[in-house]
Amino acid sequence: NAIIRLFNVTKHYGGKPALHNVSLDIEPGEFVFISGPSGAGKSTLLKVLYLAETLSDGQILIDGMNLSRISPARLPFLRRRFGMVFQDFKLIPTLNVFDNVALALEVAGKNPSFIRKKVRHVLRITGMEKKAHMLPPTLSGGEQQRVAVARAVAGDPDIILADEPTGSLDQASARRVLEILLAYHKKGGTILVASHHLQQLQTVVTGRSIVLEKGRLISATRLEPYAI
Ligand code: ADP
Ligand code: ADP
Repeated sequence: NAIIRLFNVTKHYGGKPALHNVSLDIEPGEFVFISGPSGAGKSTLLKVLYLAETLSDGQILIDGMNLSRISPARLPFLRRRFGMVFQDFKLIPTLNVFDNVALALEVAGKNPSFIRKKVRHVLRITGMEKKAHMLPPTLSGGEQQRVAVARAVAGDPDIILADEPTGSLDQASARRVLEILLAYHKKGGTILVASHHLQQLQTVVTGRSIVLEKGRLISATRLEPYAI
């Protein structure tokens, strides 16, 4: 009953391997940390999952659906099962906080009253409701990332993929962002977090740590949280 299955996933950019024969099963509700040095393939692993990059070889199944056989018409529905968080937030600078979070729900065709309620809710749980009318460039990095996390969870995704989500944040902000991700995880969400500074992350949760090195999965271990 894995929600994500990778079979011998290989990705080359030109001739250069970024992922090599990566096989991995992820159970629903798992918290998975992906670590490894810069260039190890962490971002590429997340990108092939949310279909930002195609595979060179191997297969990925999401709930048994083979990503390489998904019809273009079903792609948007599959993508909506993923919430994305990036190191550089990727908020739209000219839209206020509320509209940044609302946008994906509008594109998904949700009705306006649902969207209003949902956006208010996720801004409340991320502590950003008072800044709903601010533009992202006027916010701190930590605040922008909380908006990005609000946006990621607003669509009720099954899976959150976070690429260095705390990489540009100070410790207090990083902790706050992790706590929000953790709350989502406690409600049953599956989370993959890629980071080259794992220490900070692994203090918060029971999960699995996988390590990539030069595109290969070199270890996978269970983590128990130590006190924070
Ligand atoms: P990490 O996230 O662990 O830093 P990446 O997945 O970003 O690693 O990169 C893995 C390897 O693939 C690196 O050697 C990187 O330079 C290369 N790479 C990543 N994206 C591209 C791309 N779009 N074109 C060419 N090479 C890329
Ligand atoms: P990350 O590790 O988070 O992907 P990078 O700075 O490595 O951040 O990459 C930034 C962007 O450049 C990404 O879209 C990545 O795919 C692309 N990229 C990374 N390495 C290369 C490369 N060697 N050639 C071309 N594009 C690359």
